[in-house]
Amino acid sequence: MSKSAVFKKHYVAIIGGSISGSEAANILAKNGFSVVVFEMNKLPYGKIEDGLPKWHINLRDRQINEIDSKLDQENIRFVPLTKIGRDIDFLDLVNNWGFSAIILANGAWEDRVLPILAIDKFIDKELVYQNSFIYWFNHKHEKNYDGPNYTVKNNTIVIGGGLASLDVVKIVMIEIVKKQLFVKKGIEIDLFTLEKEGINTILEKLNIDFNELEIGKAKLIYRRTAKDMPLKTPKDETKESIEIAKKVSEKLLNKYQEKYLFEFVPLCIPVDFVESDTKLTEIIFQKVQVENGKIKPIKNSFLNIKTEMVISSIGSIPEKINGLQYEYSSLKMREEADYHVFGFDNVFAIGNAVTGRGNIQESKKHGQLMIEKIIDKHLTEEAFEQWLINHNEQIKNKVAEQLNSIVKEISVAKIQPESIIQEIINKTGAIHNKIGYFNYSSWTHKNMPVRLEALLKE
Ligand SMILES: Cc1cc2nc3c(=O)[nH]c(=O)nc-3n(C[C@H](O)[C@H](O)[C@H](O)COP(=O)(O)OP(=O)(O)OC[C@H]3O[C@@H](n4cnc5c(N)ncnc54)[C@H](O)[C@@H]3O)c2cc1C
Repeated sequence: MSKSAVFKKHYVAIIGGSISGSEAANILAKNGFSVVVFEMNKLPYGKIEDGLPKWHINLRDRQINEIDSKLDQENIRFVPLTKIGRDIDFLDLVNNWGFSAIILANGAWEDRVLPILAIDKFIDKELVYQNSFIYWFNHKHEKNYDGPNYTVKNNTIVIGGGLASLDVVKIVMIEIVKKQLFVKKGIEIDLFTLEKEGINTILEKLNIDFNELEIGKAKLIYRRTAKDMPLKTPKDETKESIEIAKKVSEKLLNKYQEKYLFEFVPLCIPVDFVESDTKLTEIIFQKVQVENGKIKPIKNSFLNIKTEMVISSIGSIPEKINGLQYEYSSLKMREEADYHVFGFDNVFAIGNAVTGRGNIQESKKHGQLMIEKIIDKHLTEEAFEQWLINHNEQIKNKVAEQLNSIVKEISVAKIQPESIIQEIINKTGAIHNKIGYFNYSSWTHKNMPVRLEALLKE
């Protein structure tokens, strides 16, 4: 009997269809397993669709095509609009559906809570979280858009320090400059041009002084210094490499500031707010110093910053699913294996679902490049693309490695009887009927959002 014939009756469920989920589904399908991919959204593209700012057109489309080619296979049943933990109870899935294994590939979609007491009353008013903000930015041009709506304000504060917070502050400045160019000067300019050329270059070309636009610049507030921003990973752990990476990060941030005209305020942590007429009007930051890598608040040293909008971009964590155990914000895993979920024989987790952070070491290829060269390269679309491609390649390699072990573990499990398999097919078929799903390609085609670049060409 061939290997695939032996495995044919193992049905495996994957939660989440994006980079990690599609990679896992593809490997399992190629090994003769049958796979059901549950995806909470209409489309399986995760952060690629909703987290990557929409100016990365080519990168987005390439990654989407790759996910499509992995999921559109005979052995894979894609079940969209089905959130585990909401539409199907997780323990019900584990105990009653009869899958040989369940693999969590649900990424990190919950914003880490901004640690200021009682500030949550301003959510989606003066306080906005990064994930919904980028979702709005990416989709607001769609005709039937029904997500959250925001208006970018003067003096916006972005709290954070990672790559995503830079995207956020860029979006804020691009949006507000675009709007004011129209309001004050009657000039219409698309965001792709502003992003690519930089706000400074465009204003220079138009012979417009920034002050004429009457914009209160956005401020990026970080608890460490520019050198500590994770914009460049050191090639190894030597003191010299770490110092080079720090200098690159600092120069990169300076270049970003020059290009997109935001301000940077280091060494501050948010501790309180000021409210006036039920509106959030100020954030109070405590000044800190960094000693041996540790952040130490400076006694009685505070900074009040007036603002009309605060965007918290302090990281994403896996959304908790009832029935699973977590240690702080991370899924609790078995000690002996970084893919085996604690408390279950047949539940596994891969990709960003495990920790929500880049637990995969960045490529060490760039080792010998001089600082300036790295900086110039980093500031181009291609450089970011390369980072994301490398990063996603590493996720996929890691998933492949984990899947090797998972496949070994599942293969010794008893093969499901025909009646159970039929039941899985019936239940997923009922969801398909309810939502009008016919097959993968017609579904994704029907639900693919209209792209801004296409609208601009009309
Ligand atoms: C701007 C930007 C910044 C980034 N920064 C980082 C970083 O700092 N660190 C890092 O490690 N990676 C980072 N990445 C990389 C990114 O996270 C990866 O490229 C990739 O998206 C991770 O793949 P994933 O499949 O694990 O998660 P995701 O792309 O998040 O996919 C998870 C999928 O699961 C679905 N899902 C979630 N919950 C459920 C549920 N309960 N039921 C059913 N479906 C569900 C989601 O809809 C989604 O489709 C960044 C990416 C971008 C675009």
